Amino acid sequence: MSAAKRPASVTDELLERLVARVPGRSGATWKLTEVYTGEVLVELPQSTPEDIEDAFAKARAAQELWAQWPVAKRLEVFDRAHTLLVDNAHTTADLIQVESGKNRRMAIEETCDPPMVMSYYLKRAKKLLAPKKHGGPVPIVSGSTEVRVPKGVVGIIAPWNFPFATGLSDAIPALIAGNAVVVKPDNKTALSPLYGISLLEEAGLPKGLFQVVCGEGPDVGPTLIDNADYVMFTGSTATGRVIGERAGRNLIGCCLELGGKNPMIVLDDVNVEEWVEGTTFGVFGNTGQICMHIERIYLPESRYDELKSAFVTRAANLEIGAAYDFGPEIGSLVSPDHRDRVASHVEDAVAKGATVLTGGRARPDIGPAFFEPTVLEGVTKDMLAGHTETFGPVVSLYSYRTVDEAIHLANDTDYGLNASVWSGDLARAEAVAARIESGNVNINDALATAYASKGSPSGGVKKSGVGARHGDQGLLKYTDAKNVAVLKKQVMGPRPGQAYDAYVKQMLSSLKLMRRLRVR
Ligand code: NAD
Repeated sequence: MSAAKRPASVTDELLERLVARVPGRSGATWKLTEVYTGEVLVELPQSTPEDIEDAFAKARAAQELWAQWPVAKRLEVFDRAHTLLVDNAHTTADLIQVESGKNRRMAIEETCDPPMVMSYYLKRAKKLLAPKKHGGPVPIVSGSTEVRVPKGVVGIIAPWNFPFATGLSDAIPALIAGNAVVVKPDNKTALSPLYGISLLEEAGLPKGLFQVVCGEGPDVGPTLIDNADYVMFTGSTATGRVIGERAGRNLIGCCLELGGKNPMIVLDDVNVEEWVEGTTFGVFGNTGQICMHIERIYLPESRYDELKSAFVTRAANLEIGAAYDFGPEIGSLVSPDHRDRVASHVEDAVAKGATVLTGGRARPDIGPAFFEPTVLEGVTKDMLAGHTETFGPVVSLYSYRTVDEAIHLANDTDYGLNASVWSGDLARAEAVAARIESGNVNINDALATAYASKGSPSGGVKKSGVGARHGDQGLLKYTDAKNVAVLKKQVMGPRPGQAYDAYVKQMLSSLKLMRRLRVR
């Protein structure tokens, strides 16, 4: 095994500076490791409940001032931050790679997500946050204004698979809306969000407004949720239930972005070359650790052998490697524990009768957490890989006879995060997309088009989530709507001396009149 040399930008000085902002009064630490080698990079402080309460107190104090900044002035910070994030994309990618083990192509793509989110809200936020006038119950003399008030302090709990994107991108609209943020990244991948926050501060984000606490989820989660005014969670469906329950008890809102078992339906008129390229990324991108990646592919019986052969050949020839350059097409899984989980899904499938068409093995010769791109056939619902999320470079191929059957099989899952439909005929593909139960559907792509369309809300249905990120909803969810209503003259109720019967008659005919006037 030839260990990749750690990137020059990831110095001990940088690592110490980054973790210094994580509170940890008990002195307990977590050994954050470089995935390709398993070597300890830095001791990450673990935050106690008192540390978390302090972080919220500091965030709350900073938020009171920040909320008074005009929106345009807040946006200036993000305009500068956009440039800084893009200019420092390579250092960010270095940190993402050392802590997650993903390949460089994916790491650099991840760095683009927060700037893309910023671009959207830089264009849109002023309009979204401006007070909106609405008519009152009595024309002219009454009216109401919808005022958007920040929630206060937003707690964000982020996973390891896109640590920089989920640590920063969901915080951006929260901050723009006038909130403070306390984020809890995964212990394994705290470095890139810490670096991103330091760049936001360099761009002018007030100190104290964006706090970071670290620790194991069950240790940190309860105090974080109990102190937050809103919770944004990205992670597994199992943890999402725990978060949602606690937020519900506290009567605070939450957005839950959870797991998937994402299907792809390939129609019989597909262009094989384009499909193979798009699907290879859609299945194996980020070593299969993308919530929206494809784990089930439904192929038409009439072209099954041809499509299977083209895809399996491509999968078998993917270049796997532990390198900090753009060479490898596939990187590592995040940890040996996760590698074992992925392997257990393949072993379970094989034990119950599935066939491995390519891959299927761990690759300790490349690094401690590598696993081969794997294609299975003959997977059934009683197998782990047949019904639960594997979250690794493993996909199952199925053959279908009719499109109705394919749609039924695609929908036969508790999840509903992402789906993909491929066809040479867009109208045909759109008709299929309309019948798939999923928060996102990509036509002639696997996942990236939907995720990168920042103007449309993106979230899961069924057990894949509650609420959405992106789009107008992705910012407005971090606000409360305050209804400020004005009555300029006391005109409601009977006039002095008017009988109540007469008043009611007049009121009811006014209702009809107002409706007619609006219709015309
Ligand atoms: P996870 O649920 O184990 O952990 C996610 C985060 O929650 C981590 O920071 C973890 O420390 C924390 N956590 C764990 N238990 C907690 C608890 N009891 N209270 C509070 N916090 C707790 O998920 P994971 O394995 O880190 O991430 C992979 C999962 O995330 C996959 O299921 C994937 O599909 C999902 N995911 C979803 C999206 C989306 O947008 N829908 C995006 C990325 C990942």
